Amino acid sequence: MNVISPRQPLVQVTPRGLYCPRGDFYIDPWEGVDVALITHAHSDHAREGSKLYHITEQSLGIIQRRLGPDGVYHPHAYRQEFFLGDVKISFHPAGHILGSAQIRLECDGEVWVVSGDYKRDYDPTCEAFEVVPCDYFITESTFGLPVFVWKSIEEETEAVYKWWMKNQEVGKNCILGCYSLGKSQRVLHALAAFTDQPVLLHGATQALVDLYREQGVPLIATLPATDFEKGTKGQLILAPPAAISSTWARKFGTFESGFASGWMRIRGNRRRKAYDQGFVISDHADWPALLQTVKECGAKKIYVTHGYTDELSRFLVEQGHDAEPLETLFAREEDA
Ligand SMILES: [Zn+2]
Ligand SMILES: [Zn+2]
Repeated sequence: MNVISPRQPLVQVTPRGLYCPRGDFYIDPWEGVDVALITHAHSDHAREGSKLYHITEQSLGIIQRRLGPDGVYHPHAYRQEFFLGDVKISFHPAGHILGSAQIRLECDGEVWVVSGDYKRDYDPTCEAFEVVPCDYFITESTFGLPVFVWKSIEEETEAVYKWWMKNQEVGKNCILGCYSLGKSQRVLHALAAFTDQPVLLHGATQALVDLYREQGVPLIATLPATDFEKGTKGQLILAPPAAISSTWARKFGTFESGFASGWMRIRGNRRRKAYDQGFVISDHADWPALLQTVKECGAKKIYVTHGYTDELSRFLVEQGHDAEPLETLFAREEDA
């Protein structure tokens, strides 16, 4: 490799986020910019204040809801190519949430892929992850430690169902903390294999569930939690995690609390946060899936961002890859 090459890398880290000078655009920028390419609608990736957003068609409804209807949005179908400057761009499914994308950039015969958040596990609520061959791969590493290995969604959802039934028998309600975008819909889809009892939803979750249904994603029957009649027992309620410890939860009487998250893989996290139950359900790649993806994309250089950057890049180097952390500003995931 020619280290004195005057050529700039196609993608650079700047204080406003990942920037591509050849196309004059940012990817998931931290501040308002002229042109933003957005990998997906979670709030740590889709921020307001930019003049123009390039997004996937499937995320349009969700992003409009979150950033307001007045922004200028250019929706693209997956794999549809378009140019900004002399960079050829396309969005490819990331398997993370509805509309989530990896972004492929091609310029001067060189291909870069920015993964955004992704997972390889079965999730029929969004399009499955696609391996995109590239020369440079910028991967997330939210769960980039060997301890993070997921069971199947069926197995963990069955555990949610059994927990609900056990509490129903003793006349208690259950509130499951579940991020409102992606995680909730995945659990609501998977629960349909075990029951047809309706699940009650917090208002924030309800709005996003409606957007998934509009796009034809089949989910178990749900009711707004506002329909809950005082004194009713044996219900399962899905709510954003913060709602569980708020006054909102009081109307459900004595209840058991649970949390669906990759962080629940670490027992101490559940105890520290005082949840009665933890379910290891994540919309991010686990450790084996991160390694598999790095291998399958065939990149000669891996940049690791967003999470356990040092740990994953060190391991990849030990395995013979050319890898290094990419120091970007990093906010705790909205959705892990
Ligand atoms: Zn995300
Ligand atoms: Zn993220």
